[in-house]
Amino acid sequence: MSGDESGPGIDLDEARRKYRAERDKRLKASKGRGDIALDGPLKRYLNDPFQKPEPREPVADEVEVLCIGAGFAGLLVGASLKQQGFNRVRLVDTAGDVGGVWYWNRYPEAKCDVESLCYMPLLEETGYIPTMRYAAAPEIFAHAQRIARHFGLYDHALFHTTVTDVAWDASLDRWRVQTDRGDNILAQFVVVGIGPMNAVKLPDIPGIESFKGKSFHTSRWDYGFTGGAPDNPDLDKLRDKVVGFIGTGATALQCVAPLGRSAKKLYVFQRTPSTVGVRGNGPINAETVRNLEPGWQKRRQENFTAIWAGQPVDEDLVQDGWTYVCRELHCSTRYQGLSGQALALEKERVDFDLMAEVRKRVDEIVKDKDTAEKLKPYYNYFCKRPGWHDEYLDTFNLPNVELVDTKGEGVERLEEDSVVANGRKYPLDCLIFGTGFVTETTGKLRLGFNVTGRDGVALSEKWKDGMTTLHGLTVSKFPNFFIIPGVNSQAVVTVNVVHMTQEYARHIAHIARSVRDRGMQVFDLKQEAEADWVRTILEKRVDDAAFLEACTPGRNNYEGNVKARPKQNAVYGGGAIEYFAILKRWRDSGELPGLEFSSALSAHDAPIERKASHYRG
Ligand code: NDP
Repeated sequence: MSGDESGPGIDLDEARRKYRAERDKRLKASKGRGDIALDGPLKRYLNDPFQKPEPREPVADEVEVLCIGAGFAGLLVGASLKQQGFNRVRLVDTAGDVGGVWYWNRYPEAKCDVESLCYMPLLEETGYIPTMRYAAAPEIFAHAQRIARHFGLYDHALFHTTVTDVAWDASLDRWRVQTDRGDNILAQFVVVGIGPMNAVKLPDIPGIESFKGKSFHTSRWDYGFTGGAPDNPDLDKLRDKVVGFIGTGATALQCVAPLGRSAKKLYVFQRTPSTVGVRGNGPINAETVRNLEPGWQKRRQENFTAIWAGQPVDEDLVQDGWTYVCRELHCSTRYQGLSGQALALEKERVDFDLMAEVRKRVDEIVKDKDTAEKLKPYYNYFCKRPGWHDEYLDTFNLPNVELVDTKGEGVERLEEDSVVANGRKYPLDCLIFGTGFVTETTGKLRLGFNVTGRDGVALSEKWKDGMTTLHGLTVSKFPNFFIIPGVNSQAVVTVNVVHMTQEYARHIAHIARSVRDRGMQVFDLKQEAEADWVRTILEKRVDDAAFLEACTPGRNNYEGNVKARPKQNAVYGGGAIEYFAILKRWRDSGELPGLEFSSALSAHDAPIERKASHYRG
């Protein structure tokens, strides 16, 4: 782009043309390209490098609540249920421990880029103060374990266990849950909390199966091969190795620097550059935090979420890159008195300015002009998930690090010992996929197991033309069943996923407790209540199609296929704070409108006395 890159002098038309050209280049290149199924020999990419699964006998018993997923979703739901007096709560997870993404993502220098005082849940309840403003993965993983211990969630947990089938047994008023370890478990309530990053994604690159060198995905880091450890980013075994890294997303931003420092040679294969803002990590003063008024964490989370939702606040408690950008884009004083097209134009101008700042930073840090040019992102700010790092860009100044920009095409193919990109062959000792996770690009379910409700209704069938829920959490025909909402799932979304999950967990535990308090065993969601919520979602829906259409392909715009998204697979348009208030009002009404209750407690045996015949598959 020529001329002023920011401020009043910006040529908006030229900027738009440039963004559009970048988008079209990527769209053209990715036609027919998607992810690849990880079966056959590619299944090895899913092996757990951290812990060997232990053999065990299949389990056949009954629990009050079974949570599928032992990441922060399962942990927070479990903790809330324990607080509501439920004892037999079982977490089931494919991983070998609790922690979810923090169990798997142990790549060097992995951190959470949301401030730890907001992100790490239940700090006041567990009495823990994080050491750093942006906590490292081992500290977050340890905190997940702390929560599990604190709330007794290890008691009934099953790890290295993948759920294969969930079906409502109307004769018992229980869910029957089966797993790949032969378990056959009855549960009064089932909660699905698999998170948005449970399915490893390898791109559909021709020849991917033929690569014979060492290769792994960032969520299965092989420290045996690279040297170093999750808390030691000196990857000493790579000193004599040529390493290729595919991907330049949020994960790459964190682990490219230690790779660059350690490897003999590092090639970073880029399809689309990321937005890399200033991080500014540093230690937390524990004493200051300890002296805060009780309830400080909730206030801080709500303040962060309100800013994210574009709501004006008296004070920005977090004051970091996220809140700066959200305030600029949503609450700047520049917008006062503007509406309609004038407002939209001003917001677009602010977006261009923010992106120009990002590109200016690249110029300031990266010495080689050609490399700097390639690292500059040309799209609107929230087209892709923004990233923050203070060493990533500088890594490209190292003499052993080379950026291979594929001009939006992605790598061409893999051969036995090399990656081919831009027509050139790059022989490698090791290839690392930083290619992310499968997301809901078409709105289709990616649970990996069947859920069958009343009258044999399958959830995938029920939702084939779009989701139907109340608050994104409960579904009619699926009694005693909860699903933690993912992206575009009739609830809300902020980058602090854990804050939202805490609100969902509180709500779920409240409903489960209310069933019990009514002396009942089962709740069903009325179809009318579900239809009403879908209507609300459609009415409140913010029409973001034009914005997303103009974006470079990515998770946020269904890889450029915006039309694939059913209209009702959307977030609640009033924002997170308004949505949380709706949930609270609903709970406080005491009526739990939309739910009906059945099966009085006395009509059933105590779980412990169930006959063996109940556990037949
Ligand atoms: P992403 O999906 O964000 O990035 C994948 C990368 O792989 C992209 O750069 C993508 O390019 C690239 N890619 C895919 N296919 C090809 C190909 N054929 N050739 C070349 N490049 C290819 O995955 P990440 O693991 O980086 O992040 C996933 C999510 O994890 C994030 O969005 C974030 O939500 C979360 N995360 C959170 C962190 C935190 O601090 N809280 C830290 C790290 C991750 P393209 O952009 O062109 O599609």
